[in-house]
This record gives sequence, structure tokens and C-alpha cells, in this order.
Amino acid sequence: MSPARRGGAFIHPYRENSMNSSVSEPATISPALDAAFSHQACNLCGSSDSVLIAKRDRDRRPLRTVACTRCGLVRADPIPDKASICAYYANEYRLRYKGCWSPKPKHIYRAGQVALGRWRRLRDVLGSRSRILDVGASSGEFVHLLRETGRQPCGIEPNKAYSAWARDVLKLPVITGEWDRAEFARGEFEAVTLFHVLEHLADPRGALTRLAGWLAPDGLLVVEVPNVESRCGALSRRFHFAHLHNFNLPTLQATGEAAGLRVVLAFASEDEGNITVVFTPDPARRAAPCTGLPGNAERVRSALAAQSELGYLIEPRTWVRLGHRLARMVREYAIVRRIKDPRNLLAAGLETAA
Ligand SMILES: [Zn+2]
Repeated sequence: MSPARRGGAFIHPYRENSMNSSVSEPATISPALDAAFSHQACNLCGSSDSVLIAKRDRDRRPLRTVACTRCGLVRADPIPDKASICAYYANEYRLRYKGCWSPKPKHIYRAGQVALGRWRRLRDVLGSRSRILDVGASSGEFVHLLRETGRQPCGIEPNKAYSAWARDVLKLPVITGEWDRAEFARGEFEAVTLFHVLEHLADPRGALTRLAGWLAPDGLLVVEVPNVESRCGALSRRFHFAHLHNFNLPTLQATGEAAGLRVVLAFASEDEGNITVVFTPDPARRAAPCTGLPGNAERVRSALAAQSELGYLIEPRTWVRLGHRLARMVREYAIVRRIKDPRNLLAAGLETAA
């Protein structure tokens, strides 16, 4: 049950990853984020009843992960402290995930392809909306693509090096900082997008509630997260210490509804590894905790229990996916050797995927 200990002191994997950071704790933390660390109850329904579903993270380090028995939302337990989170995302997240401070050429090319895939899935629902905020904009590829389509997007990204790269190289309006400390006018955006952001937050319900306030009355909030029920990755690699919450479609939809939003569209990716829900403000709905999702905790537990390492290894699609990945790496290698200018590399990623 106990996460890592050093010299008898409690050390969460999150803290271990931030201990060598040279950046001090930010001067101010929003009250909403601060409060999120003061309890371990379910963020969606408020229940304290939970069931243990994993003891280790994807790197085999101790990480206690539980599912709320009332609604099925999966969360890390305990949630790491605020100083660790802020320092980690300002400096270390990309380094730990991708092994570099700024995007490498292959990352730029790949990110262009990912951005275009997102655009294809969302362009119909986004329609002519122009003022779009991308929260967790990374190195800015989706903002870049939106601008290429004639829109007026902007982004916010906590990682200093990646956001600086988006501004300096791609000349994009990407702000460096924590989204919850940004101040935007009420109704300022026609759409807000969060791609693989919500699972990293300590207070996802509070986050969607605040983001909803930045939306125009007919604005859209687009949220994409990993699917906790996914069968497209090894079960032993399902839980990551930076993923403080893990969603399936019912809990993601309910989180938005608990933030006063209404579901417009919900879908899973082709391989069911990711889930996306598009919300819009619902004047008739008050932001309030969910009262529970009957049967969903059992659904999540059953989905995880049905998976095994051996089953994953003998599934044909595991090897098909590996083949695709190897082919992609070969393609990327050839392209990054040929194209040196990062803007041309991003353009090549967008064209190749087109
Ligand atoms: Zn719950």
C-alpha cells in the first residue's frame, strides 16, 4: 500500500521525479487547486468508498490506484502535493515522457500527424468556430493547424521549453503557465480543447467548471483522455503516476455534466485507446457532484480483470500495432533525415497524414 519511502519519509513517485528540479515552488496556487489536495474523496461524486485496483505504475514503482465504488472514477491515492505537480509540469514532464527539453524532429513530425487526426475527427462539430483555446498545447501543433485553417486560436502550456518553442519557432500565441492561473474573460472562447490533459489534474470536475465559464453560450469544450478500459496496451502499463485520474466514457461524461455541461458528442478512437467527449454549456444544469453511476465501478473492474499480460501478448492486434509502429519509425527516420527546418517538418507531417 505504501508508496516509495526514503529515509522513513513518504515519497510519492511524483515527488521523486521532481526532487532534482532546480525550479522553486510557484508563488501562488489557485484556491481550487489547493483545495484539491486536502481530501482523498472521489472528485466526481464525493464518496470516500473505494476499491484497490492496482499497486504499481507502468514502471513497476509503487503507485496505489483505486476506483470509487459509487461512480467508478479511478484515481491515484494519495493525490500528490501541489508543489510537486507545479514543478513537475514546468520542467520535467516532457523530459520524462520524451527524453528531451524541446521537441525533437521526429516529435514535430509525429505531432503534426496527431494534430491532423484530431482535426479530422472534430472539424464537423467545431464548424466555423474561430476563437479556440488549446489547454496543454504542448509545442503548439494543433494551434498551428487551427491557424492554418484561418481561425484565431491560442494555447496555454505549463512546460517552459515546449511553449517557448511554439512561440519562437512557430510564432504561435501560446502562453507559458498553469491553465488554472490564467485569466480569461467570461465567454471569451467559442471552443476550448483539452487533449490528454484532464487525467493529469487533481480536480477535473473543478477544472471543467472553470473552463466552462470561458465558453460562449454555444461554445464547445472538447476533452480527450486515455480510456482506462482500453485493451490496446499492456495492463501492467496502464497506470502512470502523472495520471491522477483515469476515465471511461461514463465517468468522463459525468464529470462534464457535474460541471454544468451537456454532452454533444462522445466517441472512442478506432483502437479504443482514447475517448473523446464534446460538451456545451447547459443553462438548465447546475454544477454539482454526481450522485453516482450504478454499475460503473463493476464495469471498470470487469474490464481490467478480463485483461492479462498473456492475453495481451497473444492478441493479433498487439503485433499488428507493433508492425505499424515500426513502419512509422522507419518513415519518421527517413523524413527527419531529409527535412531539417522544423516548420517544413511539421508541414510534412500534416501533408503525409492528409
Ligand atoms: Zn465517485
